[in-house]
Amino acid sequence: MSVIQLPLRRKKERARALYYCELDGWNFNPRYTEGACPICGWTPEGAPRTPIWLGLSRKVDWDVVGLFALFVFLTFWAVIVAHAAHLRL
Ligand SMILES: [Zn+2]
Repeated sequence: MSVIQLPLRRKKERARALYYCELDGWNFNPRYTEGACPICGWTPEGAPRTPIWLGLSRKVDWDVVGLFALFVFLTFWAVIVAHAAHLRL
């Protein structure tokens, strides 16, 4: 897969966002119903189970990101306070 094909593939996936349940006569987007019809529970094959942003956000360890952001924030304030107190770091 090349870099150019990746956006095209995603565009095709987005185009197929709605599925039609013949049993209920209902259009639904399986990304927001955990991959199943909200009425009868039918699961179309190959349908995405989550939105893209949610799938990516689940792969990130947000605790580590939060700790790193806290470290940067506290370091920034430590430098400001040290500068205001005329301390050399
Ligand atoms: Zn259904």
